[in-house]
Amino acid sequence: MTPPGSVLVLRFSAVGDVLLTAPALEALRLAWPGTRIVVAVKERLAHLLRHNPNVDEVLELRSGEGPLSFARRIRQQRPGAVLDLHNKIRSKLLRWQLPGVRAVVWRKRDFRDTLPVKLALRPYRASMRFTDRYHLAVEELVGRTLPRGTLRYFLGPQDREVADAALRAQGLDPQQPLLGISPGANWETKRWPAERFAGVARRALAAGVQVAVQGSNAEARLGQLIAREAPGAADLTGRLDLPGLGGFISRCTAFVANDSGPMHMARALGVPTLAIFGSTDPGMFDFAGHAMLFAGVECAPCSFFGRSRCPRGHFRCMLELTEQRAWDALAPLLRAGRRLPLSA
Ligand code: SF4
Repeated sequence: MTPPGSVLVLRFSAVGDVLLTAPALEALRLAWPGTRIVVAVKERLAHLLRHNPNVDEVLELRSGEGPLSFARRIRQQRPGAVLDLHNKIRSKLLRWQLPGVRAVVWRKRDFRDTLPVKLALRPYRASMRFTDRYHLAVEELVGRTLPRGTLRYFLGPQDREVADAALRAQGLDPQQPLLGISPGANWETKRWPAERFAGVARRALAAGVQVAVQGSNAEARLGQLIAREAPGAADLTGRLDLPGLGGFISRCTAFVANDSGPMHMARALGVPTLAIFGSTDPGMFDFAGHAMLFAGVECAPCSFFGRSRCPRGHFRCMLELTEQRAWDALAPLLRAGRRLPLSA
């Protein structure tokens, strides 16, 4: 395809899925350096893209904004092509409002996987990494094979200051070794027990490493539990906005998290990360330079994005991952993490 004047990329949510577009956006920029790249995303997640040099404009879907209003604003952009990395009803509706504009749509997984996994007839095994599927869509749009981009997150200029203020308010020194803990996840079966995160926190504190727990307001209970069971660990749940979250993670010597947006952010920032997987498939992501725990019980992964409870009742996919296994995987990451003093 002849490079158009502009490409509209659609990916409205969620944190991890938006962050994972970074390699595809880099590949697109390299393929068509003269093309303007506009990305449409939910307003509350716009910060994830605002400082990406491969994005010329972030088009924010305002909270409560209807599809007709947003489509009107999109038409004003006069995109020469659409790259739909969302592929849900919202993006389909928008594409229908752009007749005659070439659109390429990504597929999150193979169709033959969907029904048998939903019916619990067999576990899910991703046949391709998430970022590779995004990349394939870029290649289809451009019409040739392309070098792959890298997963990177670009902080805003104030993000570390925001995080440092939150750390200092809890008595922590941003320049000293720090373990970041993210015990939350959107779904219950993606959560390793908080008591085990607390055990890991105690071991890190005993090794002389500061510990801070991160999470949303809704995850405050997890932060309180860990701070209570690991005296000395700081509870930052509900205290960091999206810019502050990136600043905080970038200050960490190592990070431990479930399959969640903060886990992807940590990898994208190059912070050595231990990712803990239960009911979802770690095969969707790349853990080179990081560590990943997955028990591999016969029923796992039982879902594409997690469940509210274990359908078999035993929850072995998480409970078989002991605190000791996590510490054995995390300790080398802490040793390999940034040396003092941490540079700004
Ligand atoms: S233990 Fe339960 S939640 Fe975990 S993969 Fe098996 S069925 Fe799913």
